[in-house]
Amino acid sequence: MKLDADIVVVAAGLSGLAAAITAAENGASVIVAEKANTTGGAANMGMGPLGIGSRIQKEQMVTLTPGEAFRRHMHFTHYRVDARLVRDYYFKSGETIDWLMDMGVQFVGVQRAFAAPELTRAYSDGEFTWHVVKPEAGRPGPRCATAMIKAMTDRATELGVQILYETPAKKILVEDGEAVGVLAVDKNGEEIEITCGAVIIATGGCGANPEMIREHTGYEYGKTIYNFAVPGMTGDGIRMAWEAGAGKTDITMELMYQIPDNMNHFVIEGAFRQPCLWVNKNGERFIPEDQIANTTFTGNAISVQPDKVAFAIFDDAMLQHWKKHGGDIISHVHPPDLYEQFEQEWAKDLAAGYDPICEANTFEELAEKAGIDKESLLATVKEYNEMCAKGHDYLFEKEHRYMRPIGNGKLYCCRQHVGAYGTLGGIKINYKTEVLTDDNKVIPGLYAVGTDACNIYGVSYPFILSGNTMGFCLNSGRIAGENAVKFIFAEED
Ligand SMILES: Cc1cc2nc3c(=O)[nH]c(=O)nc-3n(C[C@H](O)[C@H](O)[C@H](O)COP(=O)(O)OP(=O)(O)OC[C@H]3O[C@@H](n4cnc5c(N)ncnc54)[C@H](O)[C@@H]3O)c2cc1C
Repeated sequence: MKLDADIVVVAAGLSGLAAAITAAENGASVIVAEKANTTGGAANMGMGPLGIGSRIQKEQMVTLTPGEAFRRHMHFTHYRVDARLVRDYYFKSGETIDWLMDMGVQFVGVQRAFAAPELTRAYSDGEFTWHVVKPEAGRPGPRCATAMIKAMTDRATELGVQILYETPAKKILVEDGEAVGVLAVDKNGEEIEITCGAVIIATGGCGANPEMIREHTGYEYGKTIYNFAVPGMTGDGIRMAWEAGAGKTDITMELMYQIPDNMNHFVIEGAFRQPCLWVNKNGERFIPEDQIANTTFTGNAISVQPDKVAFAIFDDAMLQHWKKHGGDIISHVHPPDLYEQFEQEWAKDLAAGYDPICEANTFEELAEKAGIDKESLLATVKEYNEMCAKGHDYLFEKEHRYMRPIGNGKLYCCRQHVGAYGTLGGIKINYKTEVLTDDNKVIPGLYAVGTDACNIYGVSYPFILSGNTMGFCLNSGRIAGENAVKFIFAEED
């Protein structure tokens, strides 16, 4: 089958939908080839995007400006990323939230993904950038961003964007160095050739491709990393772009920390996200535990420990305290009543032999069961309890209100691993989202957006400006949609 459009967008995930809608709003005819039988990709798992300067922020009196966010981002990345792309993204991001609202997306408000305790505020406090999507029903939580995807899909359809479901793109067609179309295959195996004036790649990275993860990041899926492997994110767009001559950038993991099969052990995962005692395999503390609300910092810290694991330990006294007063650190993602559910879930997982968890009556028994160096753990506990008695953590200066002695009643332990939302980067782009060759030449008519091309974080996700991946996906999509339309209409002139 042969089709033709002004613009072909490869994939109807978050960035692809943003690109398709923008291109259609600017007068282009658009076909989207989507591998899955639905739109939204990984964005269906999440809660909401970053925006700076949105109407909601103004209503909530959030004073952060795009310029301040830009400076913060560039300081965080040591200016080792494309400043112009970062600048254009942040300056567009507030208006993008308004644009979403105008198409019917509702937000419950804007919040930090986490707030740091007083002592560490200057180094790690989150900004009020995370626009959490109002779900169609119930309270906001994981997957509430599905409501945003639904509104965007409706808007695309209303604008005449043709979405071909279950139609994975296989190849970018290039003639005389210019992208001129896409080869795709429909669900019956029939090849579809779509010719066009410009192609926008938006396939969501390679988080579900363990071989690519191993080759490009060194992590072993299910061994040294337990990332979300959202089905379909197999690196197709990255591979197709490289085959079409695109330059390569590093592919990194969007790190955080996670427990194996976390969505089926969500109460357990949430319950241990507290500033209790955290040690590595050697039985040594490795982070001021008041930082564990910053899931990226914690994932980064675990990634440099022996065997890339850590152990969170609390005792019965702490559990009773959290049951009565709520957690010291409140997760916006895990269930709010998790300590009410904890004992039941714990007994169930323990009986089922869920390997990352164990309980013990002594630290000797705990070390044995968890695989932590016993002598070192005992020394750490002794030192830690002495510091608690003095009310001062002279090792890491953890916030003193969290310095509670450990060892009162049963001990609970959960092994923590490096996790990730997915991958970042792979395709080299400029601030217009045009795809570049390794020697920085533009491949005319070829654009890449979203996580396939997200090369603006350097070595670590900037969790302090939360909602950042969705923010980048939406805004890079919009930037590509605008530029691709300018490109095709300039060619026609
Ligand atoms: C559990 C979880 C929670 C998250 N929460 C947040 C959050 O609250 N805020 C935030 O900012 N970020 C969050 N993220 C990250 C965010 O969801 C992703 O970064 C974002 O959705 C990526 O957008 P994308 O457009 O690059 O890819 P996706 O939205 O994943 O879309 C990729 C699309 O490509 C399609 N595709 C793949 N290969 C092909 C092919 N060959 N042909 C055609 N189509 C193809 C897929 O089917 C999919 O539809 C979360 C991620 C996870 C996993």
